Amino acid sequence: MKRYMMNDLIFAEQSQRFKVYIPGYLLIEIQKQCILAYPNETGGILAGKYSRELDCAYISELLKAPPGSKSGRTWFLRGIKGIKKKLDRLWNKKTYYLGEWHYHPDNSSTLSNQDIKQMFSISNNPNYKCPEPILFIVGGKQNSWEYSVYVFPQCEKYIHLNLVELHS
Ligand SMILES: [Zn+2]
Repeated sequence: MKRYMMNDLIFAEQSQRFKVYIPGYLLIEIQKQCILAYPNETGGILAGKYSRELDCAYISELLKAPPGSKSGRTWFLRGIKGIKKKLDRLWNKKTYYLGEWHYHPDNSSTLSNQDIKQMFSISNNPNYKCPEPILFIVGGKQNSWEYSVYVFPQCEKYIHLNLVELHS
């Protein structure tokens, strides 16, 4: 069983069928990357594992923008240099590619048409071995972050997950 901490984020499908768990320490690391990149976009890869029932994705590793990544204020092109090696190393630790994250500086965390296209190309790409990749988008800026999470099942419509409020 995972123990949830104060600063962890949990996103769930409306039906609660599928959940994505983002630990607080990872969120802080992503925020750091966003602050460094501001006012440009940045992004990278999310890795972790699924629950045995496959109804929850636990993100535990963050890959920041690899060498060769390019970005501007409203676009980000993730490089691929060194990615395979890093993912292979994680795979050996039973930690798998789960999806992508990126930053929309001073903007809403809602996904763009370009984001949708990119994610469906990943879900249909056998090299990623990830038929339902997750997209985590950070919007806004320091002290006014905004978050969105989406899942992209193969050949289907994408699913938007809502932030679950944690009650103590
Ligand atoms: Zn985007």
